Amino acid sequence: MEWMELLNQLTRAFGPSGSEGGIRKTITDLIAPYVDEIKTDAMGNLIAHRKGEGKRLLFSAHMDSVGLLVTHVEKEGWLRFHQLGGLTAQDIRRQGVVFENGTRGVIAVPEDKEEDRDLKRADLFIDVGADSREEALKQVRPGDACVYTGTPFAQNGKVFSNYLDDRAGCAVLIEAARRIQNPQYDLYFLFSTQEEVGTRGVKPAAFGIDPDIGIAVDVTGSDDLPGSDRWCSSVLGKGAGIKVMDGSVVCQPELVAWMSAVAEAAEIPVQQDILRSGGTDAGAIQVTRGGVWAGGIDIPCRYTHAPVEVCALSDLEAAAALAARLAESGFDGR
Ligand SMILES: [Zn+2]
Repeated sequence: MEWMELLNQLTRAFGPSGSEGGIRKTITDLIAPYVDEIKTDAMGNLIAHRKGEGKRLLFSAHMDSVGLLVTHVEKEGWLRFHQLGGLTAQDIRRQGVVFENGTRGVIAVPEDKEEDRDLKRADLFIDVGADSREEALKQVRPGDACVYTGTPFAQNGKVFSNYLDDRAGCAVLIEAARRIQNPQYDLYFLFSTQEEVGTRGVKPAAFGIDPDIGIAVDVTGSDDLPGSDRWCSSVLGKGAGIKVMDGSVVCQPELVAWMSAVAEAAEIPVQQDILRSGGTDAGAIQVTRGGVWAGGIDIPCRYTHAPVEVCALSDLEAAAALAARLAESGFDGR
């Protein structure tokens, strides 16, 4: 399947943190041809298993997205909300949103706050066009979550879309699963839940799988914008990031060296990825049980968590190629 076709299906599926049923169904259909067994645990994690000999290698990509959760419906019909994951008021103002039942709205700014430089997320509200609380409640209840609207498109080798974090990682794992010919491992593909609210889904899933090696596939920052503060080291179009560290993990040097050597032998473009803050499933996997070899394949991404994110399609291609080659290459550890 072409990258854009895959990303279209994945980014359109509903799945804010805690409400991943829609995206889980989409991924189940896409990964099923390439694995032996698929199950869903109590946290909603999707665990796809390709049975094999040898050590257990776990690939993890989170399938939840950031979103908004309705807390109050005001008498005029305005919806107040809390955030699911890290969002800034500046990023989300006047953005369109959609609920799982198809109800649409826009994130609005109070008139007296329009020029406010210190606009807070709590100042904002969602307008679904309802004239009263009663009318709004016919479509939306407190506790309902919504996500950004958007239509992915490709231009200049880049993909522009909502929720490349981390549907790009999900796409990479599905594509890698399709490509793997001779796995050297008992292979698991985990599509985890609630990553954006604190890597919650991966913890019980990794505990249950008990992997020898765990590799998270997720987006990372991109150090190529005007005014860069050097918060991260990777840039768009220079290949898959091999995680060295982020705010949640320092990857074992032996594992980083192995990933780099596999990439070099297969002539897959890669770059060393260092992110000063923020975390991924890799951090949770590393400290599971008695400790796990943990790494990351990172996809450089601009404007992470904003309504439109941008990645390079060539980096997705490199990430899928690297994941597939790693699954076909032995790692002995210390
Ligand atoms: Zn992510």
